[in-house]
Amino acid sequence: MAVESAIGGTCAAGSQPAAASSAPQAAHAAARGGPSGPGAGAGTPAAAAAARAPGGVREGVREGSLEAPTRHPIDWRNPEFYNEESLNAELERVFDICHGCRRCVSLCNAFPTLFDLVDESETMEVDGVSRSDYGKVVEQCYLCDLCYMTKCPYVPPHEWNVDFPHLMLRAKAVNYRDGKVKLRDRLITKTDVVGRFASLPVIVNAVNAANRSKPVRAAMDAGAGIHREANLPPYDSKSIRRRLRKLPSTGVDVAADTPRRGGSGPASGDTPVPVRLAPSERCCAMPRLELGDLESVEKAKNENVPVLAKLADEGFDIVAPVPSCVLMFKQELPLMFPEDERVAKVRAAIYDPFEYLAQRHREGLLRTDFRHSLGTVAYHAACHQRVQNIGSKTRDVLGLVPDTRVSVIERCSGHDGTYAVKRESYAHSMKIVRPVVRRVRDEEPDHFGSDCPMAGNHIAHGLGDGRSADHPLTLLRKAYGI
Ligand code: SF4
Ligand code: SF4
Repeated sequence: MAVESAIGGTCAAGSQPAAASSAPQAAHAAARGGPSGPGAGAGTPAAAAAARAPGGVREGVREGSLEAPTRHPIDWRNPEFYNEESLNAELERVFDICHGCRRCVSLCNAFPTLFDLVDESETMEVDGVSRSDYGKVVEQCYLCDLCYMTKCPYVPPHEWNVDFPHLMLRAKAVNYRDGKVKLRDRLITKTDVVGRFASLPVIVNAVNAANRSKPVRAAMDAGAGIHREANLPPYDSKSIRRRLRKLPSTGVDVAADTPRRGGSGPASGDTPVPVRLAPSERCCAMPRLELGDLESVEKAKNENVPVLAKLADEGFDIVAPVPSCVLMFKQELPLMFPEDERVAKVRAAIYDPFEYLAQRHREGLLRTDFRHSLGTVAYHAACHQRVQNIGSKTRDVLGLVPDTRVSVIERCSGHDGTYAVKRESYAHSMKIVRPVVRRVRDEEPDHFGSDCPMAGNHIAHGLGDGRSADHPLTLLRKAYGI
């Protein structure tokens, strides 16, 4: 799902989004690195030529980089991108560096899979691992980006030019092009199609009942590879677009209101702010990216970006409630389409919701007349929000609510798109979520939740005591008494 709200402020904030938008954009530009021109994208043939550092050719190479990380464009239209021989050579090169480093062993199951393959090989080096086993590593990666953003000292501009997630993406894209992706994975990542169908009146009841039925779930497990115990959240026939028809009841005539970025709007923090849904949207296609289906990502981009760029032109800032959607527009699309000016425009205008609220607060434009405290909140910071390099803005904003203590849990929840529902990875996902669940239990919180609704549901599933997660925006609404 991707629902973008173009706003000239926040529901409970004042105006002057020009000020609200400028600082974060500068911070993003510095933090994200962003497309840095037509460089050699890690994982591409050019990158391999630029960064050969296999095995013993490491003398004189500095350990780690002191410079800010950069991210190279993804060279996905280059036919060489899909050349299996050069891909395998690059996988071997990077796997060899990782084998010598092993910092990421605790992040996900991709690295333990790689290290087990190496350690169980005859040579106990990467050259002893059969190339036909490389796919076992690739299929464990769900592109959370944490290894790149939080661990790896060898990312560009370091000369080893390691971009593990985007190398995995390249391998996934080759798999997809070669038709090696299961029908199940093609279907469950079509969130638009599945969601539209499953949410139809009458059908929605049947789908939800089927998802709760043990015999049906056993059949889905055996026939479709959807784990019988995986948490499948219920569908709702009332889409967010139908539910938010009442948005103007905030007191703002959205049709008549003037967008604020141009600075013409009132500056008072007491002034209602125009909020509107983007006129149309489709899934940002993050699930398709994780499958390696880059053509579908382009199709979704071609539908979403013109709509959002037009809103940005009108002066609106844009937020999306799911971190993965924001990351798609902030990072992945700009790296896939570095020449597209409208993509760059949307990148500059889109915010994580709490990044935006925190910016409003810094400008003195966020109302803090909260009516209710939240008590103790066990808050899970979603990976796709953490890698936006914006800091813990959700914690900061929720922390403004009186008598509220926010305990931040910075560990992967293990949901990761479809990873938590597939038969072969469900057990891994439950293992990954276990420490998060333990932290939530230990906190004995009044509320728990994550910026990522799927992660929140997965944590609730791990708790297994009937409690449900609250999105931090829901908590904020409760605190305001709205
Ligand atoms: S991107 Fe995430 S899932 Fe993939 S290898 Fe890195 S840490 Fe693991
Ligand atoms: S991705 Fe970087 S930090 Fe992680 S194991 Fe590989 S080389 Fe080490």
